[in-house]
Amino acid sequence: MTTEIIKILIVEDEWKIARFLQMELEHEGFKTAIEANGQRALERIIQEAFGLVLLDVMLPEMNGIEVCKRVRELSEIPIIMVTAKDEIEDKVVGLDTGADDYLTKPFAIQELLARIRAALRKHKPAAAPCVENALRIKNLVLFPSRYQAKVAEELIDLTKKEYDLLEYLVRNKHVVLDRQHILQKVWGYEYLGDTNVVDVYIRYLRSKIDERFGEKYIHTVRGVGYVVKD
Ligand code: CA
Repeated sequence: MTTEIIKILIVEDEWKIARFLQMELEHEGFKTAIEANGQRALERIIQEAFGLVLLDVMLPEMNGIEVCKRVRELSEIPIIMVTAKDEIEDKVVGLDTGADDYLTKPFAIQELLARIRAALRKHKPAAAPCVENALRIKNLVLFPSRYQAKVAEELIDLTKKEYDLLEYLVRNKHVVLDRQHILQKVWGYEYLGDTNVVDVYIRYLRSKIDERFGEKYIHTVRGVGYVVKD
């Protein structure tokens, strides 16, 4: 048995259910947090170090199935999906999207605790999430530790310089970056070429990402430079 206290994120928009689960889980010795909004739950799962997620399906802003799919692009964190009885077809979808297990409301708390223990056993505690550093914009996900970028689970073939440029743009999303600035940050102060190289590499990135996946990420700001937007 590990002495580490596991923190569980309860994603549930019905406050009474969320509070009930929180009390029961804390009674069992887990730490917990509650999140009622699907989009925010996704952000928290990516940013905070939870050990397991209890994920309701019907949620405001982003449903649990979508949250699960997106988390799975980044992390192997155990996820137990929870839904109401009449949404039974969600079960198939839920497991397809990579949930570890599935529970139908109403459920006995002992049943939930057994499923939680089983899901935690399956996952080694040492399996650190490779998620802290991942950067995301829409369907584009960057993994700085591996110099990799994916769109919808598909790895994009990028040169080191293309990756560097993309990461720099993504890290500064919504900030308009001029060519000189990009050149200094990505190519370095000692680079002696002209700023056209930025335009050339932006073209490479657009053909590999925007054009290939039919979604606009890199926007031109006329007379200034470029900006990546959600
Ligand atoms: Ca709900």
